[in-house]
Amino acid sequence: MIRFAFLFCLIPACLIAQPVSPMSKASTSPQLITRPKLVVGVVVDQMRYDYWYRYYNKYTDGGFKRLLREGFTCRDHHYHYALTVTAAGHASVYTGSQPAMHGIVGNEWYDQRSGRRVYCVEDSTVKAVGTTNAGAGSMSPKNLMVSTITDQLRIATNYQSKTIGIALKDRGAILPAGHTANGAYWFDSKTGNWITSSFYRTELPQWVSAYNSKKRPAELMKSGWQTLLPIEQYTESTADDQRYEYKLPGAQKSVFPYDLAGQSGDVFGIIASTPHGNTITKEIALEALTHENLGKGEATDFLAISFSTPDYVGHAFGPNSVEEEDIYLRLDRDLADLLTALDGWVGKGNYLFFLTADHGVMDVVDLWKDHHLPAGRLNIGAINTAIKAALTTAFGDGDYIRTSDNYQFYLNHDVLRAKKITVQDVCQVMRDVTRNTDGVANVVNLHELGTASLNDYQLTLYKNGTHAKRSGDIQLVIEPGWMAGSIAASHGGPYAYDTHIPLLFYGWGVKPGETFARTSVADTAPTLAALLKILEPNGSVGKVIGTLIK
Ligand SMILES: [Zn+2]
Repeated sequence: MIRFAFLFCLIPACLIAQPVSPMSKASTSPQLITRPKLVVGVVVDQMRYDYWYRYYNKYTDGGFKRLLREGFTCRDHHYHYALTVTAAGHASVYTGSQPAMHGIVGNEWYDQRSGRRVYCVEDSTVKAVGTTNAGAGSMSPKNLMVSTITDQLRIATNYQSKTIGIALKDRGAILPAGHTANGAYWFDSKTGNWITSSFYRTELPQWVSAYNSKKRPAELMKSGWQTLLPIEQYTESTADDQRYEYKLPGAQKSVFPYDLAGQSGDVFGIIASTPHGNTITKEIALEALTHENLGKGEATDFLAISFSTPDYVGHAFGPNSVEEEDIYLRLDRDLADLLTALDGWVGKGNYLFFLTADHGVMDVVDLWKDHHLPAGRLNIGAINTAIKAALTTAFGDGDYIRTSDNYQFYLNHDVLRAKKITVQDVCQVMRDVTRNTDGVANVVNLHELGTASLNDYQLTLYKNGTHAKRSGDIQLVIEPGWMAGSIAASHGGPYAYDTHIPLLFYGWGVKPGETFARTSVADTAPTLAALLKILEPNGSVGKVIGTLIK
């Protein structure tokens, strides 16, 4: 009956519509779908939201300021899962999904089946192209379990669109470019060359080889690293020399000016920790633009760029350093160059541009403590020792933990089965032994998150970040302001400094403005899909940010 009623409703509608010829003519006249010539996505690796404004007065008119003035900014944009790291971030931006579904739960994870650690973009079935450094090139997106917005664009245009990913970090180039990419290029720090893998092609395109032969990294390193402005003008940052700052290879102190001498075996690795890392990324992106003729064909092309350098610098010197400020002032100039080049190549208004980040970063623990703010460094070694001792006391001798990574413990399920112990039993022992440990907020069983003693907000972040096959069994929830390790600063937690990042859309189809409504990183890809009038990626869980669309 329901089916019959439905047909009955449809028939009169068809009959009524046919005689109204003027309206019918208008509604059926052939209208072409309009799309931008080119989409350019920029992920800044470790850009916290407040960097828009912290250095605002020193930005040029053509970079960050132009984007803020002419684009649409989401001012309360956050990650929607807890483990805020590079690979998970790039995957989530481009899939509109979350680690629980796309499977990129960290930069690496432990694989219970093979009993070994897996790197997010490793692929032993493919070979390096453009280098003799085999390990740097055995990479592909095969561990990503869903499609990307770049894939969906290729599918929607019957593979006529060209999609290319570029970043110093392999994962920053490969994950955004997706499974169907026309190319992905990353930096080999041993040879100083941009490379790819046999997943994409059997030899480097001529334009990549030509750029490599210019030996730009060696040339730029010779010029060292001086501050862009006189150093006394860096009033947004702490004094240059701080006890917690990392010393670049060859440097006696963490102070300007830096001579840049690489280390043997990894001669060009140092460039990633200097503004020259962003410069060579911009340069190779512009080579891709012109030599691949991006934005000049019938179908929309997509250039996905990730600037990895701010992450290296943030870790080494911390977000309050002169080095960090200098990186952002110079990235601003690089972005201005990029936008000017795009204006010239495809025309202002003909390209759709967006800028976001893969995660934020925590301020330096020591700096917070100096200012009486709550912060600390976890002694992971001591925590692991106490946990192992407590497990032995509770259950007898046994190798209960296979490994720990990303503040998660991967348990030895063979031992648990043999001793008839559950994950919950182990979790309870871990919770009891860390109850009075500073910096540990909680210990939760990732298989039983439904009953975990966590607040609703964090519970959602951990649920979104937990993949049934790839995540660990037990999660150490750290307290706000705490981190493991001795590096100046880090990220990877569920707190605002790690989750709150920029999202800006600019150009084709975008209405300038801003919103203070809470938006999620998962919204990025479906919003792009709406602008491009294509299907969103298959794991997408975000919503379209409709207010930014013209
Ligand atoms: Zn990082």
